[in-house]
Amino acid sequence: MDCSLEFRNEKVSTMIQKMMKESGAHLEGHFQLTSGLHSGHYLQCALMLRFPKFAAYAGEKLAERLAPLKPEFILSPALGGLIIGYEVARVLDIPFIFCERQDGGMRLRRFTVPDKKRFVMVEDVVTTGKSSIETAQILVNLGAEWIGSASIIDRRSSEFEQGLKLESLWKLSFPVYEKKDCPFCAQGLPLVKPGSRPDQK
Ligand SMILES: [Zn+2]
Repeated sequence: MDCSLEFRNEKVSTMIQKMMKESGAHLEGHFQLTSGLHSGHYLQCALMLRFPKFAAYAGEKLAERLAPLKPEFILSPALGGLIIGYEVARVLDIPFIFCERQDGGMRLRRFTVPDKKRFVMVEDVVTTGKSSIETAQILVNLGAEWIGSASIIDRRSSEFEQGLKLESLWKLSFPVYEKKDCPFCAQGLPLVKPGSRPDQK
């Protein structure tokens, strides 16, 4: 694939949209999301972040916005937050640690609690904010200070925006539908379930 997107002096949200489209990370059609709801759009940030220059761009832009908070380390949830969390930490020149899912819950498995206390949570996409809060709370319970949150993409609907104050590079809200209300089902468009194996129904 030729991802020769030119880095013109465009709005950050415009650049992110182009990077998502060009890398195949933003698909349009008829999708069943992991929540079971149907949508005309599907986002898979990993497809954008496989291009290091795109990851570096997003990391730099998030770091610029987070620098005034003076974080002392970056925390991300694995796997989705690993690349962008690392890129933000690299620009700010501070440590990066991650939580990962084990036995159904998020855990800080590989790291001790940093001596420095002030942290920002960084993710690729925030859909509801629930997993962000779950992840950050682990460090809060261990005595760290949660001073901010950031993601490349904020796709929360308004009902979830109260729970979490979030810096993002692209804020969007695509409509999602229950199967019975889905306009694409009504048109008879084939349903795609991204991420599932072909033998899964
Ligand atoms: Zn549908």
